[in-house]
This record gives sequence, C-alpha cells and structure tokens, in this order.
Amino acid sequence: MAKNRGRSFVQFYTPALEGRATRMLMQEQLLRQAVERGEFELHYQPQLHLDSGELAGFEALVRWKHPHRGLVHPDEFIGFAENRGLIAAIDHWALREACRQARAWQDAGYPAVPVAVNLSAQEFRQRDVVQEVSQALTHAGLDARLLHIELTESTLMQSGGQVPDALHALKALGVGLAIDDFGTGYSSLAYLRKHPIDRLKIDRSFICDLPHNPDAAAIVSAIVQMGHSLHLEIVAEGVETLAQRELLQNIGCDMMQGFLVSAPLPCEQAQHWMSQHCHPLQRQ
Ligand code: C2E
Ligand code: MG
Ligand code: MG
Ligand code: MG
Repeated sequence: MAKNRGRSFVQFYTPALEGRATRMLMQEQLLRQAVERGEFELHYQPQLHLDSGELAGFEALVRWKHPHRGLVHPDEFIGFAENRGLIAAIDHWALREACRQARAWQDAGYPAVPVAVNLSAQEFRQRDVVQEVSQALTHAGLDARLLHIELTESTLMQSGGQVPDALHALKALGVGLAIDDFGTGYSSLAYLRKHPIDRLKIDRSFICDLPHNPDAAAIVSAIVQMGHSLHLEIVAEGVETLAQRELLQNIGCDMMQGFLVSAPLPCEQAQHWMSQHCHPLQRQ
C-alpha cells in the first residue's frame, strides 16, 4: 500500500504507479548526474534592434543532453529541476558557460554584444547571486555590461527581502537586468519603481495575437509607452511574422527576438549567424 495520505485515502499498489515512481526516480538520478557532469548545452537566440536591424545581443537558453532522449528543452525539465532543488545548480552552470562563451566570441572578433541568462527564484533564494555573478564575470574576463540577467515578476515577488538588495548590487556591478515574460505575472507595477530594472521583455502570448487582435495591440503599445517613460528598454519575445515586426516598429518597441529572426542556435551556428548577418562595422 502506498504512503498514507489521510484516513479516507487508501492507495493500492499498482504496477503503473510503481512504473511512474521508478521513472521519476530515474529521471531525478539522471538530472543529478547531468548537474554533476555539466551535461547541458546552451543555445543562443539573437535579439535585434527594431530600427536598425542590428544585433543587440543573444539570450542563452539551456538544453539537457539527455543520455537516451537527445537534447531536451527546458520546459520539459525546469519545473522538475525546481521541485528537486536542482535548478540553482543548472543556473550556475549556464551563467558561467554564457560568460565564457561571450568572452570567447569577443576574443575571436565577433561583435561585443551582451548575452542574457535566465536565473530562477531558487538561485536568488538559495545562493549568493551577487557573488556567483561577480565570480563568473571575473573567471571569464567579461565586462559586466555584456551580461544581462533575466528574472520573472514572480521571482521578484516570491523571493522576499534579499532580492531588492541583490538587484541593486548586481546593478552596481554593471550587469543589465530584465524582467522576462512581462505581463503574465503579478500585476503590481510598483516594483518597477523600486528595483533597478533596465529592460522589459513582453511575453510571447501578447505578441502572438498581433497584429489583428486590437486588445493585444493596445496592451503592447501601453507597455512600450509606460516602459519608455520609466526609461526602460522594451523587447518583444516570440516575434514570428513580418506583420508583427512592422507593428512593433510602428509602436516604437526597441528590440525583438523570435523565430522570424532565428530560433535559438547551438554555439557554432550562432557564430555562423553573426558572420552572415553582422555588418562589418559591428564586427570588431
Ligand atoms: P524564456 O526565457 O521566456 O525564453 C524564450 C522561450 O521562447 C525559449 O524557449 C525560446 O526558444 C522560445 N521562443 C523564442 N522565440 C520564439 C518564437 O518566435 N515562437 C515560439 N513559439 N517560441 C519562441 P526555451 O528555450 O524552450 O526555454 C523555455 C524557458 O525555459 C525560457 O523561457 C526560460 O524561462 C527557461 N529557461 C531556459 N534556460 C534557462 C536557464 O538556464 N535557467 C532557468 N532558470 N530557466 C531557463
Ligand atoms: Mg528569458
Ligand atoms: Mg520570456
Ligand atoms: Mg519563460
């Protein structure tokens, strides 16, 4: 009989249940092993300035090199990693790897553009983020201005008192701070005044309804106006069509990221993308 889950609940053993439990355990062991061995890979998605079309930076997105399943995307393991307390270790790996790669590109003569990494609420809660970021920068020899950190509204809300201090300290290092998936989290905008945020990334769910949905267009336009009056840069996520790009440009959005430009690319392909798309002046 399974674990007692209250008097009225009796769960009989079934092979299916055991199968599931075993699978979860195996999955956890594999993920722990991946964390210990660094069995991950970062893919880089270009972000463009909407007015000039020039490269503005890359977002680094993690993939798990799963021993049986090939490259696994984060939506399939980030939630699980959070539940098992493993996400901060993954973030730590991604942070160091992204800084290392950004510096390597710079050394190879590619444009010195920022790389953005996603940090979870657990990273802020469980670890000394400021120290980790500062060590990652020093270790890679990367200028802090070439690192952006993306965090969600819920991370800001969940993680309690230490987050504001950490954000101010990160800002003091020179790191850029972006709110990811903006518009989907808690609706209080008070935090935009309190925290030293540089950038808002408008969630894909608003962008995918453009250009035909007038409500989505009104929301996106309002975010751009509000953001600009607070001196924030605005990035549109998940731009897939030319019509979306044109509307965003007309609205005055600063940057875009999405399949229209490119899917996230493995490192060598991102490098190839830069050599194909970057104006010689943007290359050093
Ligand atoms: P995100 O930070 O909002 O990243 C954008 C996601 O949208 C990426 O999914 C990207 O591949 C996808 N995307 C980009 N352009 C388009 C588009 O035009 N259309 C569509 N349909 N999708 C697009 P991905 O790589 O699967 O990552 C999913 C999420 O996993 C990320 O969302 C981020 O929240 C999280 N994540 C990724 N890497 C890390 C990491 O190193 N640490 C943490 N804590 N989270 C990460
Ligand atoms: Mg992100
Ligand atoms: Mg996002
Ligand atoms: Mg997301």
